Amino acid sequence: VSLFTTPLQTIIDFTEMFQKAVAGFRRFDEILGTKPDILDAPHAKPLKVTDGHVVYHEVYFNYGEGVTDKPVLQGMNLDIQPGKTYALVGPSGGGKSTTCALLPRFYDVASGSITIDGQDVRDVQLDSLHRAIGIVQQDVYLFNGTVAENIAYGRPDATFDEIVDAAKKANIHDFIQTLPEGYETPVGERGGHLSGGQKQRIAIARVFLKNPAILVLDEATSALDNESEHAVQEALAQLSRGRTTLVIAHRLSTIKDADVIVTVKDGRVAEMGTHDELLQKNGTYAHYYRMQFQGERA
Ligand code: ADP
Ligand code: MG
Repeated sequence: VSLFTTPLQTIIDFTEMFQKAVAGFRRFDEILGTKPDILDAPHAKPLKVTDGHVVYHEVYFNYGEGVTDKPVLQGMNLDIQPGKTYALVGPSGGGKSTTCALLPRFYDVASGSITIDGQDVRDVQLDSLHRAIGIVQQDVYLFNGTVAENIAYGRPDATFDEIVDAAKKANIHDFIQTLPEGYETPVGERGGHLSGGQKQRIAIARVFLKNPAILVLDEATSALDNESEHAVQEALAQLSRGRTTLVIAHRLSTIKDADVIVTVKDGRVAEMGTHDELLQKNGTYAHYYRMQFQGERA
């Protein structure tokens, strides 16, 4: 049974939503007017996720000739263990977002490789790649449908029970029940009837429903009030449990709770380790930590 009552508008909204979601990683391309055409290779096979082991090997990447003199990624090496959370930190412009954008192939590496369970992402079918990776970004795009429809985006076959289950896990079920029509309440144009934190938890519910082995999170701290931020943070922590997670971390608590902290600088890994290990080293991370979080408590 389809949840959708206005198929044409829904298709238009989906297309726009997808483009906007990608745009988070592609802002500069819009300005430059270039369009990367990422397609299935002729020999592409479906990705088979066994463990969720992600490996970046000597990855070089640039957004285009003359955009910058130096490549944005310059020998990025990362061996991301299945089910673990890796927090990417480091100076703005260091290459954290770019690193994340290459995994779902929003762009392709210039050289080197990225593999998931031994399969080069360029050799697998894009739809299977995108099914394996859940993305939560700072900007959430809801379409003008009901709460239930928005949660089921990407899983139109989901049952109502599955939708409710995902909402519970995302810390948004109780709120939804306070709405006049519950799960059938329209979210409004671009989700305009909801706050930033509520929209974000709906996006998280979507990913719970999708149930991917791998997660890419770009933490949002801005635009959320304290209460919302706490609810979002808890939902994200639940979501990442048992999934291979790359998080661009802004919050000290996320950084400290990560299995591995990765300092990205000048397009490569500067340091890697736990919070205590990296403080001990007194290098890039220790400096970053003192600059960002002096006086703040975990
Ligand atoms: P971080 O997330 O660590 O702040 P980014 O990966 O966003 O770093 O950026 C790395 C470099 O790539 C920066 O110099 C940035 O200006 C540039 N950059 C990022 N996205 C694009 C893009 N879509 N097009 C062109 N240049 C980009
Ligand atoms: Mg970034």
